[in-house]
Amino acid sequence: MYFGSVKFFKHLICSVVIGWFAVATFCAVFFGVKYGLEVKKNKELTAAASAEVSEKEDTIVENEKLSMEEYYLRMAADGYTADDILSFISRTEGGTAAEFAADYIEANKDKFADMFREDTAFTNGGSTAIEYTELYPDLYAEAPSEFTEAEKTVYLTFDDGPSENTLMILDILEKYDIKATFFMSGGESDYTKSIMKKVADAGHTIGIHSISHEYETVYASVESFLEDMNNTYNCIYEATGVKPQIMRFPGGSINNYNRLVYPQIIAEVTRRGFVYYDWNVSGEDATSHATWTSIYNNVLDGIKSNSTDRAIVLLHDSGDKYTTVTTVEDIIIALKEDGYSFAPLDNTVKPITFSYVD
Ligand code: ZN
Repeated sequence: MYFGSVKFFKHLICSVVIGWFAVATFCAVFFGVKYGLEVKKNKELTAAASAEVSEKEDTIVENEKLSMEEYYLRMAADGYTADDILSFISRTEGGTAAEFAADYIEANKDKFADMFREDTAFTNGGSTAIEYTELYPDLYAEAPSEFTEAEKTVYLTFDDGPSENTLMILDILEKYDIKATFFMSGGESDYTKSIMKKVADAGHTIGIHSISHEYETVYASVESFLEDMNNTYNCIYEATGVKPQIMRFPGGSINNYNRLVYPQIIAEVTRRGFVYYDWNVSGEDATSHATWTSIYNNVLDGIKSNSTDRAIVLLHDSGDKYTTVTTVEDIIIALKEDGYSFAPLDNTVKPITFSYVD
């Protein structure tokens, strides 16, 4: 008799065991695949969100640069003379770009002759026809007669402050007796003003950044840029008693949002005596997926792989950048061990800027 026999129970136990294995395996595969897909989907969503954030954050778009001809034509169409354009390029680009520009201007003089309105140039004593040069008569700085270049020096710069994170960074800098540079967005409250004052009183440099930091508005025209710059300047001056001499463009001097106006904006800011600084090392801490490790590695690898031993390092001290704060001390320790000095920017430090001429 099979039912109830030893053989029956053997088979029964085997069937149950095999059954359980089958169910367990099915569940593992089914839920594993489902979970895997979900993780992948989440990753894609996060990546897409990060990409969107990165795009809005401080990024330079190499292929968005103007060609020399585009750049030149635009300046000429705005009323700048050939001499204006050449002297501007010499002052801001120097070296081979200036030589190239000189050759280019000489070779194309006839072609562009009609575009120049000699009587409207503002740098050769002519009456001013570019209206924005008349705006904000107090928005001027004293340009230095020459720049200096220190060796093996790191310039730590913090954008978008002030916030509570600024205070923590101040403590770290004080501990290591380091001066840095804060490109401030400012703020109208007494609290933010008191932080700005602390930064200035501690001997750090405060530069102009952008009080609104709304790229579309700031870069809508030269006029709207100057309005934002003037508001930021006044905010810093009121809070600290210091008239800022240097600046950093929101998003850097060349970015997704200012392609149509950056030559004129840079020319106007430079004409007013301000010195602007981009960066050659970025902590990439403006993106939402930045971690302690990514920021630390970006800064140290960036400095070590630099072609020069001068590094202007971009970091942020806005309220949501606490992760950055946690990296600053370790970055300082590592760089000190490597023999780097730290210094604040001032307008005599030779700028590091994105080249805007191809
Ligand atoms: Zn910024």
